[in-house]
Amino acid sequence: MLRSEATIDLAAIRANAEAVRSLTGTDVMAVVKADGYGHGMIPAARAALAGGASWLGVALLEEALALREAGFTEPLLAWLWTPQDFALLTRALAVGVDVSVSSIAALQLVCAASAEQDEPARVHLKADTGLSRNGATEADWPDLLDAAGKAVESGQLEVIGIWSHLVRSEEPDHPTTTEQVSRFEAALARAVQAGIEPPVRHLANSAGALTVPAARFDLVRIGIALYGLSPVVGQDFGLRPAMTLRSHLANVKRLPAGQGIGYGHVYRTAEATTAALVPLGYGDGIPRSATNLGPVAIGGRRFRVSGRVAMDQFVVDVGDATVVEGDEVILFGPGTAGEPTAQEWADALDTIHYEVVTRIGARVPRRHT
Ligand code: PLP
Repeated sequence: MLRSEATIDLAAIRANAEAVRSLTGTDVMAVVKADGYGHGMIPAARAALAGGASWLGVALLEEALALREAGFTEPLLAWLWTPQDFALLTRALAVGVDVSVSSIAALQLVCAASAEQDEPARVHLKADTGLSRNGATEADWPDLLDAAGKAVESGQLEVIGIWSHLVRSEEPDHPTTTEQVSRFEAALARAVQAGIEPPVRHLANSAGALTVPAARFDLVRIGIALYGLSPVVGQDFGLRPAMTLRSHLANVKRLPAGQGIGYGHVYRTAEATTAALVPLGYGDGIPRSATNLGPVAIGGRRFRVSGRVAMDQFVVDVGDATVVEGDEVILFGPGTAGEPTAQEWADALDTIHYEVVTRIGARVPRRHT
């Protein structure tokens, strides 16, 4: 038993992939970037593939290369790179990583990086349907298609996919999603006119996949649902949260009434009480904004962070509860035993559960079960 650890239920990840696959009826890309949203990229990828996912998706070329180095041979898309990544791009193309292309400049770099190789580079052309991050705008799309068409003819690249990303899929029935589906269909139609009809068209993330059938196309890219967190607050899709974050009390003592706790004394005991010290802090990814807010469970009872979250530790005022050093404290988990959930942490901290799980740092050991 470790002082602190994040246990990752790989059977849950596998079951979540299976659930999304059977609900959507499309191919599933497991999004495992950012160390699998904090769950461990490689074990998460393995579990998702065992559950029927057939693609892997990451942001960075380094992440894609790490997956190939770990032996994953499945189709794999990396979507965020810059000209400074040219050497990585060359290496990634050489091991069959698909890359996203949003501009003619990026297309030229991919052609240059693939020049030495026997096989054409595998690209997914990205259309900006409203998010205004990556992707070619409607105005630039025809030129990108023309340039891609020429590169295909000259054998430099193969267009495997056309894709885009949703703006507010977590708000069911929001008109923006319907507009984006239409824009995406228009982008696909324009591609057909340009003679580009790739086999894989993809638009939806978890929320889009689960709630917007028209957004599913050939492949859905799921991250948060894979890790068992509902992509739509308050809606239960029967997913199983995979991560439980637990620690053990490092110190327990009685404090008198009116005693300040932690840096700045931003918490003061109301009466004589027991203070329990948890050896986790912002150095481990517990947000400092959890000061006086973050919920925890000790011995089946709920308490809150009491005082500032420091780099390595925070205190919990447990009142009259009987606790001893070494007792388990659960910060969040599936919630099935009454412990707080990542969603509750997100609500308390005015953030999203994505951030709660993803920011748990490398200092916290992961135990995959
Ligand atoms: N597709 C892209 C381009 C993403 O950046 C992400 C994650 O942020 C996903 C899909 C997965 O999103 P979600 O975790 O909401 O399923």
